[in-house]
Amino acid sequence: MADSRPVSIAAPRRRGRQVLPTDQPPEGATSPDAKPRLSFAVPVAKGKAPRHLADLDLAGRKQALKEAGLPAFRADQLSRHYFTHFTRNPADMTDLPASQRTALCDELLPDLLSQVRALKADQGKTIKYLWELFDGVRVESVLMRYKDRTTLCVSSEAGCGMACPFCATGQMGLTRNLSTAEIIEQVRQAAAASRDGELAGGPARLSNIVFMGMGEPMVNYKNLIPALHRLTQSAPEGFGISARNITVSTVGLVPLIKKLATEGMPVTLAVSLHAPDDELRDDLIPVNSRWKVGQLLDAAHEYFEATGRRVSIEYALIEDMNDHAWRAQLLADELNKRGHGWAHVNPIPLNPTPGSIWTCSRPQVQQEFVNTLRRAGITTTVRDTRGSDIDGACGQLAAEVLQQERRLS
Ligand code: SF4
Repeated sequence: MADSRPVSIAAPRRRGRQVLPTDQPPEGATSPDAKPRLSFAVPVAKGKAPRHLADLDLAGRKQALKEAGLPAFRADQLSRHYFTHFTRNPADMTDLPASQRTALCDELLPDLLSQVRALKADQGKTIKYLWELFDGVRVESVLMRYKDRTTLCVSSEAGCGMACPFCATGQMGLTRNLSTAEIIEQVRQAAAASRDGELAGGPARLSNIVFMGMGEPMVNYKNLIPALHRLTQSAPEGFGISARNITVSTVGLVPLIKKLATEGMPVTLAVSLHAPDDELRDDLIPVNSRWKVGQLLDAAHEYFEATGRRVSIEYALIEDMNDHAWRAQLLADELNKRGHGWAHVNPIPLNPTPGSIWTCSRPQVQQEFVNTLRRAGITTTVRDTRGSDIDGACGQLAAEVLQQERRLS
């Protein structure tokens, strides 16, 4: 006779070693007592990023030119050069009167990002850029070529206030939000680099954008939304990238997930979950102290219902911390109880750091985690980790370059 007793997830919790996030100071900490604090406060920036056409819609660009005493109708041509030909160089704009080119570019296409480093990895199929902004703050973006697409991972903030203990950016705290144009300029530079064949394999079209670089994009919501407009609207308004090819990742700012669902832009939502139980997630993702796993998954499911876009659940597998089979089962149960086929789980093997509490799961443990999810009917794809030989995790390159410069000074 079949055993009809309810399956309990409580008993298996006792099995297996449990390492907790607080066992050692956060990665990159300089003091043994260091503990980054969750902060929603955006520090006051030192000045404002120069105004750029990507901060404005087409009507705003026309208005800006008019106010500067320049012909408003040139905003259209200027925008096409920027969003279609990926240039801000007056010499390329031969359809504009030579006498006006420099003035038009000075007015709406100021220099926003200076390249500090560009490091290649994965046989030239990945390039990680470190950029310096007008006020000296630095951000990263990573360009990756895959078989079927070319993807840019962009930063939306300099640093991050979410304080996730496994993340180099989280240890820096938040310096400031990026302006819309500072986000878009990362894309323009990457689109030009792809077209010009800087990635191994020859010229490519930048097709996908993921907001998974430095920062929590939802904290910078007011600049994120115009950035999504510039990405998705076609020229002269923007790049014309399909919303389906854009992913916004969040650690779980529930009210803003709900708001994003109403914006009418069906971008993919990626939820950095990393633990299906509040007990662990409270320590692993400090924002969980505000919005619990259940609230977050409810909001993610609402997002799916509103947009029809399947939600990605990101899950970094950390040895003995969150990689237990019972957690995979609990995750599957939490997803299945809200419906079927609405979420896709991406387990991500953490970059190995031998001896650290933040190390990757053993291969057989990772496989068991994946098998448990699949047996429960959850679509699961282990994510390719790119750039692990160039400080692949967000914020690591910026932190490393800063240390090198300090050693040299
Ligand atoms: S993992 Fe993301 S949200 Fe958490 S501290 Fe790092 S950048 Fe911020």
